[in-house]
Amino acid sequence: MKGWRDLEIGALITEPGNSAEYKTGEWRAWRPVFNRENCIDCMICWVFCPDSSIIVKDKKVVGIDYDHCKGCGICAHECPKSKGDDESKKALVMKPEYLFREED
Ligand code: SF4
Ligand code: SF4
Repeated sequence: MKGWRDLEIGALITEPGNSAEYKTGEWRAWRPVFNRENCIDCMICWVFCPDSSIIVKDKKVVGIDYDHCKGCGICAHECPKSKGDDESKKALVMKPEYLFREED
């Protein structure tokens, strides 16, 4: 898969629908961390995600496509099971990306 540095200057779209071919998740600064135990499969995150990065299988959310997720946080913001302060009860929690990348 091509990296984000291979994008056209100005991120011009030269072919419709080609965003799936680029690993643009590399520029993410925040990572949505999914907790299956707290998810009620309402699919609100799937509807709101602007990058189609919520992975669904057999009508259940099974994870995040980190190759394309940009870390915008909309999924966690809209998730009804991710409100409040107790992270252990949330289905989606935004964490700094540097916690997950060795090069950082
Ligand atoms: S952080 Fe943004 S791009 Fe990533 S899965 Fe959530 S809504 Fe989609
Ligand atoms: S919005 Fe939250 S509870 Fe609903 S499917 Fe997504 S992660 Fe699960």
